[in-house]
Amino acid sequence: MKVRAILAAAVFLGWGADPAAGLAVEPQQTDELHEEVTELKDAVTGSATDSDVHELAQNLFGRVPGTQIVVAPNLRGWDFPRGIKGQRASVDQLLKSADNRLAFYNGDIPKPLEQAMNYARGMKRDGKVNFDPSLKDNQMGAYIYLVQQKLQLGRIALNRAISYLAAKIGEGLAFSTFIHEAAHADNRANLSVERTIETEIPAFRTQRQWLGIEDPYAEKVCYLRQVMINEQRERPNPDTAMALTYLNHLAEVEDADNDQKIRRMVEKLGYRDGQSSRYGSEVSP
Ligand SMILES: [Zn+2]
Repeated sequence: MKVRAILAAAVFLGWGADPAAGLAVEPQQTDELHEEVTELKDAVTGSATDSDVHELAQNLFGRVPGTQIVVAPNLRGWDFPRGIKGQRASVDQLLKSADNRLAFYNGDIPKPLEQAMNYARGMKRDGKVNFDPSLKDNQMGAYIYLVQQKLQLGRIALNRAISYLAAKIGEGLAFSTFIHEAAHADNRANLSVERTIETEIPAFRTQRQWLGIEDPYAEKVCYLRQVMINEQRERPNPDTAMALTYLNHLAEVEDADNDQKIRRMVEKLGYRDGQSSRYGSEVSP
């Protein structure tokens, strides 16, 4: 019997355990913040100038305790919530959304991200990227490969939750998991069950490069976290809790600006070198 290894590629663990973990917003401040978020949202969707929006954002984010995200003075306009369609996204739509974003981007695209994008496109074209109902609830994606033939291209499995997440937080942010797995495909020569943590670092680095383009000033993630906190407070539901958990994770990735921080994050997420667990008929390190 062939033994397949699944690279433990969970974007995050502890799904639903404590959706607000790691977020330091005092509950008593949420009313006031809610008002300001609404004001900010109106400004974003209305005719306010970039500098008006920036001032509002600075007032809001400057007072959210615990967050280290600072709104940059050169805010170049927010393309959301218009970018959030409120509809589930297919794998194809996730990829198209990323391609549109890159076409819109003027700066240099980091080489590892460019390579991972090529894998994302090629693997999608060849039917190697699919929503996979067999993924565990807390596993957002996986690059699945044959351990004995790791140079042979594997496949990317995405949790169906990504499709719902896209409706709530936008396709671009939800694409983060897709590009993470595509980076594993690109780095497949170095995949190793014994060195799981080491192999996660370049994948998270590439994921962060993607976020640097999708959310260049870390404003989207910050803003959406606050929106989800408010929603969760007023109308608690599992989709919002899931979105908040995912956004908290993305904020951590955005903050991990060097390999040491990425390593600490990977360890905190529960990745362990050489650790395997049964996963159906497969082995998941
Ligand atoms: Zn991974």
